[in-house]
Amino acid sequence: MSEAASYTVRDGVAIVTMNNPPVNGLGSVLRPGIMDAIKKADADPAVGALVIIGSAKAFSGGADIREFNTPKMSVPPSLPEINESQDACCKPMIAAIGGFALGGGLELALGCHYRVALPKSQLGLPEVKLGLLPGSGGTQRLPRIVGAAQAVQMMTTGNSIAAEKALALGLVDEVVQGDLLEGAISFAKKLLEQKKGPRRIRDMTVKIDGDPKAFFEKARAEVGKAARGFPAPLEIVACVEAAVNKPFDEGRKEERQRFQSLVEGNESKALRHMFFAERQAAKIPDVPEDTPTRPIRSAAVIGAGTMGGGIAMSLVNAGIPVTIIEMKQDALERGMATIGKNYASTVSKGRLKQEEMDKRISLIRSSVRLDDAKDADIVIEAVFERMDVKQDIFRKLDSVMKPGAILATNTSTLDVNAIAGVTGRPQDVIGTHFFSPANVMRLLEVVRGAKTAKDVLATTLKLGKLIKKVPVVSGVCDGFIGNRMVEKYGQQSLFLIDEGCSPQQVDAAACKWGMAMGPLAMGDMAGLDIGWEIRKRRYLERPDFVYSKVGDRICELGRYGQKTGKGWYRYETGNRTPIPDPEVEKIISQYRKENDLKTREIADQEIVERLIYALVNEAAYILEEGIALRASDIDMVYLTGYGFPPYRGGPMFYADTIGLKNVLNSIQSFQSGYQGAVWKPAPLLVRLAQQGKTFN
Ligand code: NAD
Repeated sequence: MSEAASYTVRDGVAIVTMNNPPVNGLGSVLRPGIMDAIKKADADPAVGALVIIGSAKAFSGGADIREFNTPKMSVPPSLPEINESQDACCKPMIAAIGGFALGGGLELALGCHYRVALPKSQLGLPEVKLGLLPGSGGTQRLPRIVGAAQAVQMMTTGNSIAAEKALALGLVDEVVQGDLLEGAISFAKKLLEQKKGPRRIRDMTVKIDGDPKAFFEKARAEVGKAARGFPAPLEIVACVEAAVNKPFDEGRKEERQRFQSLVEGNESKALRHMFFAERQAAKIPDVPEDTPTRPIRSAAVIGAGTMGGGIAMSLVNAGIPVTIIEMKQDALERGMATIGKNYASTVSKGRLKQEEMDKRISLIRSSVRLDDAKDADIVIEAVFERMDVKQDIFRKLDSVMKPGAILATNTSTLDVNAIAGVTGRPQDVIGTHFFSPANVMRLLEVVRGAKTAKDVLATTLKLGKLIKKVPVVSGVCDGFIGNRMVEKYGQQSLFLIDEGCSPQQVDAAACKWGMAMGPLAMGDMAGLDIGWEIRKRRYLERPDFVYSKVGDRICELGRYGQKTGKGWYRYETGNRTPIPDPEVEKIISQYRKENDLKTREIADQEIVERLIYALVNEAAYILEEGIALRASDIDMVYLTGYGFPPYRGGPMFYADTIGLKNVLNSIQSFQSGYQGAVWKPAPLLVRLAQQGKTFN
């Protein structure tokens, strides 16, 4: 017997205990042990029934993610083989579920003939979240026990259910109060007394309300609408339909085929890439995981504007007390009122309890004296985006903050080294670039300065995770990873307008492809004045950086986007829906006439390629310069901060799926098109394309 699965017999009941921490992943060390135990119990005349149990925290979390993409994945027996031996076992088998039974873990439990659970246990099949379906009989067994409607609901959302609900649905036979193993053994003894044998789910029929054909038509319509671009949810519906209409073994065959095609499809690969990319992003080659960190018990935020308020909310949401500091009392009061309003709106939507809101707000202290930041373990500056203002603040922080405090800046474009340079402690200075709204957006670019100390970086990454962000490390450069790329994306969106596209045509093509928002609607949301300010700076600093001036024309008329009710679109009061504006059309055609621009029909495919490949090409420079540590970090930035469609896996992953040779070919063809001089293929892209390699 393997160490990961122990076997004992008590009063005629065999007990198989899974012990593969941390989550009893069904890896190559555990599967053989379970299989052996089932066979042993089946053959032992002294055994009447069998209990499979994990730890109090985890029955099993399913497949062992540490073995993904390794040969260990296919070490026999497979989970389906274990399920077959469960079905073949002639003694009743009980899953004793403590903690969670998820994915393959629940499929193992569904292979058992009965299930008991603790009150706090959670049961679910979350495969859909990785673009997959439960591939070891889950789609066939779950509907047979909970009915078609519940099974579709559970498997297409991937959300788990609690023990009480599972009991009501028949998924669990008993909720055990007290010790789980004792409860499971007495449940087994009851079965033996009542002479109840195995009860195989495969032999049951699926409960379904009403006409099956109508049921599945409706399910497909509803699930298809919610799935938007993801194939797995509809495949799950098809499997449940097979469970209803076909014998078990045929349904299993169909499940296997559909599973296989999802595994090989780009959507699931993209979601799995994202899953691993998030874990990878936390790993910094020269900062080992055991790097000591500094304690963060309190924080201060300088500036109570758009970003400062959201950053303060993120911190107190995680229980970290914050002192928020402004220059003037009225600005401070405005900022505090906005925070209060934001929380109140969450409470009114039922997503936060009033007392929780009060508790969080009570963790915020406000002040107009910078001195009041002095005891904080970290101070995050979020004042105006001007070097002189920031340097002035950092000089003052240097003189007031206690030794060892982390000095962070939320700058989106400025040189973190130049900010650190005015202090006597550049090793304690770091960039924490939040995205707006800062209390909602998951991305946090952590900007590592030339002198940032390793423990400061490690502490900031840890804090980022604590406040539920996805921290991605960036080196210092203008715009860091995300905004440096988005500038090229925005540049192309304006060139497309020059050449004949309407703003709505560009946005529609991007959205149809999967972006949460098109580039022009995104500009309207962020404020067109922000981009305009950057362009004005570029005209002086980098005359090589060419822009269409059509964006400036829009801004010159005071059209700054949503905040002024007009931008690339117009907006009705209290409504963020962009409405095409004939006035914009006039501005654009006037601009084209003055500049003697020829227009042409541009297909959606070209629009998307120019936008996305502009991101990819700049990203290749960023990677080669070492600003980003790895391609998957760049993907994470776009997936969590810029509304990039998860099923495309991020710009780098997407380019890999298209083939870098093809991406390069398109870029080379753009070189001879309108404003072709801006397309300079990144040397890294050229090299990888020539070698037939990928970014990731
Ligand atoms: P904002 O204008 O809304 O807020 C800035 C606040 O700082 C104002 O309330 C101002 O009164 C206060 N302030 C200025 N000088 C101060 C001082 N010396 N002491 C104390 N308070 C002072 O600006 P914002 O949009 O919140 O941006 C703040 C920073 O965050 C900028 O560096 C910006 O580039 C960056 N950022 C903004 C966004 C965004 O989408 N708005 C996103 C990421 C990063």
